[in-house]
Amino acid sequence: MTDLAFDRDHLWHPYASVSTAGPVHLVTGARGVRLTLDDGRQMIDAMSSWWCAIHGYGQPAIVQAISNQAQTMAHVMFGGLTHTPAIRLGQQLLAITPAGLPRIFYCDSGSVSVEVALKLAVQYQVAQGRPGKVRFATPRGGYHGDTWKAMSVCDPVTGMHQIFAGALSPQYFCAQPPLRYGAEWVEDEAQNGLGDLRRLLAAHHAQIAGLILEPVVQGAGGMYFYHPTYLTRARALCDAFDVLLIFDEIATGFGRTGRMFATEMTGVRPDILCLGKALSGGAMSFAATLTTDAIALAISAATPGVFMHGPTFMANPLACAAASASLSLLDTTPWQSRVAAIEAQLQTELRPARSLSGVADVRVLGAIGVIEMDHEVSAAQAHPLCKDLGVWLRPFGRNIYCMPPFITGADDLSQISHAMFELAKVL
Ligand SMILES: *Cc1c(COP(=O)(O)O)cnc(C)c1O
Repeated sequence: MTDLAFDRDHLWHPYASVSTAGPVHLVTGARGVRLTLDDGRQMIDAMSSWWCAIHGYGQPAIVQAISNQAQTMAHVMFGGLTHTPAIRLGQQLLAITPAGLPRIFYCDSGSVSVEVALKLAVQYQVAQGRPGKVRFATPRGGYHGDTWKAMSVCDPVTGMHQIFAGALSPQYFCAQPPLRYGAEWVEDEAQNGLGDLRRLLAAHHAQIAGLILEPVVQGAGGMYFYHPTYLTRARALCDAFDVLLIFDEIATGFGRTGRMFATEMTGVRPDILCLGKALSGGAMSFAATLTTDAIALAISAATPGVFMHGPTFMANPLACAAASASLSLLDTTPWQSRVAAIEAQLQTELRPARSLSGVADVRVLGAIGVIEMDHEVSAAQAHPLCKDLGVWLRPFGRNIYCMPPFITGADDLSQISHAMFELAKVL
């Protein structure tokens, strides 16, 4: 049996069928922005491996950090023990994350960091003597992960979880922020989306522990960019109704939008912040949930006196070392100017796609470029074309998009734009 036949017959892939297994490319190596396939051909990875590999592949500093850490101590439990990689990373995180979130919970993946955020919110509300506040508010169009509670706050339609509707905790959905990024802000609450959120919180705040959202960029729910002022106004509404504000920056964090964190566009400080994806520079599965002293202390002061969560691989030293190396790279490389250059070039090169038939919108923010079609596109149809175009793209919904590594050079980026154009013509 060939390797690919074994893969087809035995290995699940994300969002995949086993009976009509889609084609997969066999990747044998990855360096810089390129993936090498078993037949020797290469593709530029315009996906950064689902938005994680911001420094590209094989970065010596990250490889060396993992290798050194593996020689010293690959893992040790975090209950009752601690280690320098976790401490060092914590210091680096606090230096770059929004001020006022000094309590860090390390976990394994983005979805788990969302679970941790939701549990923190509920445990805090219970500690405050508000045991009825156990549900969540969230705008439509969001995506927060694939585990149960995270699924419940994903968009009920585009969130990929409709099949589980009957099994999910019911949550409170408000309108997707209607004003786009770059549009003029409108104070009228009927037009800026805050009216809907205000009504929802006014009616149900006694049941709502927190409002969870992706600041400015809704990612897997539809690659939609909205007006940052929505966040400032949402913060005020949350305060008025004793609802915690949870920012999921798993996709936007670590420079993707041109800011280190998208919330920097507003200066709004959330009560809880979820980080993941690019945290480890794409090398390891890793995530973190940050919160305020007030929340951490309130939870610790009430029965049972502890926060009830503790993953086996919490603060895995290999992952901490990789994340530390990735943050050091952000500190020492000109990522801001690189992301700005990617944004400018994508804007120039993708704009003409507006005139293609079937294209509904073209938008760019930071190192994110989107060609939105007026119909659903097929990743399976795009799959074989990617190899010929020499660019790895994985469209979803109506979107043909790229999130390239920040180190992508101008020529490689032009090849990505060209490939997106070609897919827009045929999908
Ligand atoms: C990817 C993503 C998650 C889930 O992270 P996993 O590591 O896949 O569990 C949650 N929220 C957002 C905004 C994401 O983009």
